[in-house]
Amino acid sequence: VSALSTNEETRRRNLAAVLGHLHSGAPLSRSEITQRTGLNRSTVATLVGELEQRGIVAEGAARAAGGPGRPSPLVFLSETGPTVLAVSILVDSIVAATFGLGGRVQQQARIDRLRGRMSFEETIVAVRRLALPLLRELAPGQTLVGVGVAIAGLVRHEDGFVHTAPNLGWRDHPLAAGLRDALDREVPVWAGNDADLGALAEHRRGSADVADLVFLYGEVGVGAGVIAGGQPLRGASGYAGEVGHVAVNPEGVRCRCGSTGCLETEIGAQAILRRAGFPEDAGPDAVDRVFQAAAQGDPQAREALDEVGAWLGVGVAALVNIFNPSRVVFGGLLAFLYAEAGERVEAELDARALNRARDETTLAASALGPMGPLTGAAELAFDATLRDPTTIQSTRHRESA
Ligand SMILES: [Zn+2]
Repeated sequence: VSALSTNEETRRRNLAAVLGHLHSGAPLSRSEITQRTGLNRSTVATLVGELEQRGIVAEGAARAAGGPGRPSPLVFLSETGPTVLAVSILVDSIVAATFGLGGRVQQQARIDRLRGRMSFEETIVAVRRLALPLLRELAPGQTLVGVGVAIAGLVRHEDGFVHTAPNLGWRDHPLAAGLRDALDREVPVWAGNDADLGALAEHRRGSADVADLVFLYGEVGVGAGVIAGGQPLRGASGYAGEVGHVAVNPEGVRCRCGSTGCLETEIGAQAILRRAGFPEDAGPDAVDRVFQAAAQGDPQAREALDEVGAWLGVGVAALVNIFNPSRVVFGGLLAFLYAEAGERVEAELDARALNRARDETTLAASALGPMGPLTGAAELAFDATLRDPTTIQSTRHRESA
């Protein structure tokens, strides 16, 4: 390795460090960036200058001096900097949105589906219809750097191939490749599981700024995303975290996966409906009615949520014993369940998790709510830019090109 390429590598790494801090905390003053990166002041000034030249940041007036020394100019993320398209394909909705760095939503469009399923091909057409108008809204010079897709299914990380999405009725579809063709943009398309991306979003922008977290997401299906040591845990192919199909109740009901008594059959939407006396396929409106009835003191609804809450505690205890997270975050329906039956969840956890691991774990509802998987998809699409900001051409170069 020559000295030149080593310097180049260092500069790129420092540029990524500065951009990473701005992505999570902009605006920051130059002196705050200096403190957070540990780089010296003149290096930070040079790096900020380079990011500015690439159209990624803009410098504004200095923050009023609250301490000693000269006021330090504030560095903002540019309104017209690199942009991604994020898409979430869930059981009852499809959402597309453009995001800037810093997790800022620019434009958003959605379809809330009725109960019918959409095929893979219909979904690709629907996403194209939502996304193309958003992409046409991009300002001149605003560069689309990637597309990220969150989907309720098993997704291979490397090429965005959906092995199976049981609640959508999909099997073996090249999701990322199909969307790349449909959108006709020369940018990479990444796809990930909705719970995995929800975990990433909570880690970077939500209620869990900790290195070790489990995000447990449940609607009809139940899945988990795990961040371990600050990194997403993907498994060999990207399928890790399918905790919905961990067997917890040998006397439980048959699961759609073929097994019996899976966690999903005890804490998913169908478990709430079944225990509250509704048909299992009564749908999301009926689930809402159970929560409303429980809030008004209806005994059967109350007991249904308490029982399902206890099973949630059983599941969380297993996750705490396996992963030793400092936080477990509940998303989707499970966030509402935790709000209604938190004491039952905590009681099972106290009874079943190993003491030390239990003591280190706090529970929380998702801060991002339904925006979680979409926000995670945007983070996924920004990863390459955050790793190497020099992939964004300088605006001067772009204008002359
Ligand atoms: Zn199962």
